[in-house]
Amino acid sequence: MPQFLDTSIEYLKGIGPQKADTLKKELGIFTYGDLLNHFPFRYVDRSHIYKIGELKGDFAHIQVKGRFSSFTTEGEKQAKRLKALFTDGTGFMEVVWFKGINWIEKYVRPGKEYVLFGKPNEFMGKLNIVHPELEDASEFLAEGNAGFQPVYSTTEILKRKGLDSRGLMKAIKVLMNDRAFKMEEILPPDILSEFRLIDRHTAFQNIHFPTNDNDQRKAQFRLKFEELFFLQLKMLRIRGMRRKDVPGIVFSKVGHYFNTFYNEVLPFDLTNAQKRVVKEIRQDMGSGKQMNRLLQGDVGSGKTVVGFMCMLIAIDNGTQACMMAPTEILAQQHYNNIRKFAEDLGLNTALLTGSTPQKARKEMLAALENGTLHILVGTHALIEDKVKFNNLGLTIIDEQHRFGVQQRAKLWNKSLSMPHVLVMTATPIPRTLAMTVYGDLDTSIIDEMPVGRKPINTAHRYDNNRLRVFGFIEEEIAKGRQAYIVYPLIEESEKLDYKNLMDGFESVTRAFPAPKYQVSIVHGQMKPDAKEFEMQRFKRGETQIMVATTVIEVGVDVPNASVMVIESAERFGLSQLHQLRGRVGRGAEQSYCILMTSHKLSHDARKRLETMVRTTNGFEIAEVDLQLRGPGDIEGVRQSGIADLKLTDLSTDKELVTITRHSAEKLIEADMHLQLPQHRPLLHFLQSRRKDGVNWSRVS
Ligand code: ADP
Ligand code: MG
Repeated sequence: MPQFLDTSIEYLKGIGPQKADTLKKELGIFTYGDLLNHFPFRYVDRSHIYKIGELKGDFAHIQVKGRFSSFTTEGEKQAKRLKALFTDGTGFMEVVWFKGINWIEKYVRPGKEYVLFGKPNEFMGKLNIVHPELEDASEFLAEGNAGFQPVYSTTEILKRKGLDSRGLMKAIKVLMNDRAFKMEEILPPDILSEFRLIDRHTAFQNIHFPTNDNDQRKAQFRLKFEELFFLQLKMLRIRGMRRKDVPGIVFSKVGHYFNTFYNEVLPFDLTNAQKRVVKEIRQDMGSGKQMNRLLQGDVGSGKTVVGFMCMLIAIDNGTQACMMAPTEILAQQHYNNIRKFAEDLGLNTALLTGSTPQKARKEMLAALENGTLHILVGTHALIEDKVKFNNLGLTIIDEQHRFGVQQRAKLWNKSLSMPHVLVMTATPIPRTLAMTVYGDLDTSIIDEMPVGRKPINTAHRYDNNRLRVFGFIEEEIAKGRQAYIVYPLIEESEKLDYKNLMDGFESVTRAFPAPKYQVSIVHGQMKPDAKEFEMQRFKRGETQIMVATTVIEVGVDVPNASVMVIESAERFGLSQLHQLRGRVGRGAEQSYCILMTSHKLSHDARKRLETMVRTTNGFEIAEVDLQLRGPGDIEGVRQSGIADLKLTDLSTDKELVTITRHSAEKLIEADMHLQLPQHRPLLHFLQSRRKDGVNWSRVS
């Protein structure tokens, strides 16, 4: 069986070396098995042949069977077109071609019976159809085209080689008609019966060539199930092997630094959720296994403090800690916060980014290697080869979804023993995504906000109300508060955005003139120290308004700021809006977020704005975001294994994700190495998967 599916695609009748080469390049199809796994993305119902006499112009795609008469060409050069009359005895329709005229003139014969497939139009009471698909009626009938016809994604280059959707369909048909074609069952019998899954062979047949809706649905369910099930097995395998094989540094105690910080330095009480999470992490780091944990919490829920306390545990146990952030600004911000606390405790900290001067860098790296530097905060610069720790015990990765998975792994190689890893996300991610993208990590959730926080009031206003909004900002400033005004800066339209930002800055300074008001501006094209200077001015309260691009999206923490105005809010994604809004509401005052837009709003934009106005719950917002955008567009998802999901849509197949997760957990728990006889076919299948990179052999 494996040999057949592993056969190179070039040996398939009708393919050959040239087409095979293109299939590899265009669709990554190398073997028979790959081709069978190229599933249709939709189907057309070809079971019904219409009578021309019953057609109307508002019909969707239909097929008719009849004969051509009287071909005529009209027009010249570009405007040239070929017209023919087509009849089945119940009526006439005009068929028009603008392209491929030569081919039609050469091969299509009047008087012969054809089946046409396409969308009819009605013009001045006459029916016509443009560029229909067309097939010999005898061939159509011989193929037994009674049911649904699959439609496959393909590319322009493949189409030119005859491998349009139809060409692919024919190739798959040839394959399935081969006597050696057989998809062996690989799922264990108890799972098949528990979830009423049809057998694998039938599933492959019916996903490509279903005869009715019901068969198609059953096939799709079975194949979605296995696709998710395999993904979960892979995640659990990675997790399981790590737990078994990767010894973690045992942090056996909570010592001087942690206790001093907790009892004497920490300026507030931890929330119960924070306490619970610190405990979970502490237990994990003391277990003797390497920790790989995801820390989720809403914006402002206090993840950073938790992260810092974990660093103290690492230091209490004689190791170093580092924190990696996705941007220089965020790294700087973390560094400022951490240094403040760390200095009180007599700990050495340093910040390493792309713009750290050579000399400082040298000293820093030396201190890191000899162990006198306790905490290193930084950007991607941390994963450069020159950065060597004396004894790294804990790595915290903030806003990990902006890092690639490879980069995460690279940080592990920084130390002799495996450091514990804590991943923090900027905003919550939906459960289904967490279960798949981060399925190899354990999870801790902070589901509670610090006490005394008032939910932020959010409103949507149109651009023509800007003066009123300015008036509101004025009132807030009069109360001693500060405001952000944020402009989009999106790469494709950078120049225009930059102009908008500057125009905006000008109108703000006109509405809020010096010396009474001071306005800061921060954007991506400024030098890091100039940015930092402006941020500090705002932070110290020397300026009342901060005009900025999304550089302030993450990291800025000014509790006195109570107004967040987001300009062109329709251009921001939901998680970005939520993240921006999280910049206010950090103090005890009532805070406000005002989303400014034009009147022209797409359906999705309206939904995003409504969601923001309705709720401040990041977990809820994440769910809506997933529904609106689908998983492919959510940051970080593309690099992860779930990009390979072919049938599953994580935004709609939530239940199936949970089911397969539990089912996979049950299986691994009962038989971690898949050694039971009923799991052997599954084991062999997983071992044969080329791209997975997961080792399923018993001894590793
Ligand atoms: P996150 O990283 O989850 O967005 P932060 O850790 O930046 O949140 O915390 C947001 C703000 O709340 C910071 O100013 C932090 O000092 C403060 N904070 C964190 N935990 C508490 C708490 N338990 N009580 C009061 N304030 C807190
Ligand atoms: Mg934070």
